[in-house]
Amino acid sequence: MTGLFVRASGPAERDRRRQAKAKPGCNVVIRNIDRVPEKPVEMDGARGVRMAMMVGRADGAPNFALRHFRVEPGGHSPRHSHDYEHEVYIVAGSGEVLLEGAYRRIGQGDVIYVPANSEHQFRAGDEGMRFLCLVPVTRNCGEPTPGS
Ligand code: MN
Repeated sequence: MTGLFVRASGPAERDRRRQAKAKPGCNVVIRNIDRVPEKPVEMDGARGVRMAMMVGRADGAPNFALRHFRVEPGGHSPRHSHDYEHEVYIVAGSGEVLLEGAYRRIGQGDVIYVPANSEHQFRAGDEGMRFLCLVPVTRNCGEPTPGS
C-alpha cells in the first residue's frame, strides 16, 4: 500500500496500540463459568469447596469481585462473618444457608443477601451446590478484601 494508507499494522502493532490505550479496570472480560480454573478453599472450617475467580482484582475491577463456588455434596463453607456484605446467586443444586442463627433451605435460582457482620455458612445438600458470590475488592478504606 502507498500514500495515505501506509501505516504500521499486523497483530504485534495492534497489541501495542491496545496496551497503550488500556486503562486498569477498563478492559472487557468474557469468561465461561465452566472454564475458569478452580482452587480448593483452604480456610479453616471449609470442606469440599472450590472457588473460581470469575472477575476480580487481577482484572483491575475497581469495585467488585465475582467468584464462583462449587460445593460437593455434604460440603460447606466456613461459619464466619466479616465487615462486608455478600450478594449470592445459586446457579445449581441446593442446600442451606446459615443466617440470623438459623439454617434456611436454598436452591437453584435463589438470591441471598448476607449483610455485613452477620454470621453465615453455606452447606450443600446431596446433589452439591454451585453459587456466584460478590464481594467488594477493598474494605477498611482500601485494604484488599480476601478472595477478591
Ligand atoms: Mn463470607
